[in-house]
Amino acid sequence: MFGLKADWSVDIKERYFALGDYAGGEARWCPGCGDHAVLTVVQRICRDNQLPPEMTVAVSGIGCSSRLPHYMGTYGFHGLHGRALPVACGIKSRRPELDVWVATGDGDCYSIGAGHWLHAVRYNMNMTVLVFDNNIYGLTKKQTSPTTPLGFKSNTHPQGAILAPLNPLTATLGISNVSFLAQTVDWNPAHLYATIKAAHAHKGFSLVNIIQRCPVFSEQLSKDLQDNPSKLLLLTHENGIPIEEKLLRFFPNTQEHDPSNMSEAYDIATNLSPAPIGLLYHDPEVPCYEELSSMGNNMGVEDKLAGINAALDQFAV
Ligand code: SF4
Repeated sequence: MFGLKADWSVDIKERYFALGDYAGGEARWCPGCGDHAVLTVVQRICRDNQLPPEMTVAVSGIGCSSRLPHYMGTYGFHGLHGRALPVACGIKSRRPELDVWVATGDGDCYSIGAGHWLHAVRYNMNMTVLVFDNNIYGLTKKQTSPTTPLGFKSNTHPQGAILAPLNPLTATLGISNVSFLAQTVDWNPAHLYATIKAAHAHKGFSLVNIIQRCPVFSEQLSKDLQDNPSKLLLLTHENGIPIEEKLLRFFPNTQEHDPSNMSEAYDIATNLSPAPIGLLYHDPEVPCYEELSSMGNNMGVEDKLAGINAALDQFAV
């Protein structure tokens, strides 16, 4: 923004970004889809933190949720199925100053992208990863996903899913270098906002599993949780997700949980009924790979080139 002064000189004023600066194309998700709520919260956090749009990147794989980069007024990369995380890690390793957001789904991340998920957690690069978990493949019209509950009927399992679902919370907690794991629901805007904001504030790989409404293909799964809040367990702690006192009445079940306590986090994550909501685990001390690699452990560009040349010299004939 420019301010013209009386002497015709120009003041360059501090930029201010409004919500509209983060808006991209019109969202084409189904009416009532929980993805709309997540997009709104991400844009609000960008605005509230005044993230310059040109320094912000939204990355995705394939699936309904993966359309999110199209709806952001930032840079974006709509990648291949399951490949959101390697793309995001590549961006972060070469441009660590960028603010990287990842939108992925239970099918995209926990199935075809599972290998990338494990290693991205281990690398702990500084990015905010939102897994839209609706327990189904929505874009491909109701196929069983890794988190589809046992017995749930889908187009690939018309008699009901025959395998117990993967538990993304215990699986993530089992990966080396895990530094931030939270879970929330898309229909509680205050908790959704506070959780994603805390994830974004964490320096490292923050994974938020979002229990997401898909009213078209898996409506009854999230509706059970919406209609009966006693099926949720709100995790509270001074170091957890901040929640206003007046919102506590929406959660009949609460548990005080110190997010630095890994064994308790694992116990909570193991029992998904009631489904835990809040910050399960947080360790702000885990080093970020991009700081180790792009800075090269105190190696400058000249040192790196000398190392590469020395290695290539071994093949000289
Ligand atoms: Fe959302 Fe489900 Fe529609 Fe996909 S199919 S846009 S997840 S409601």
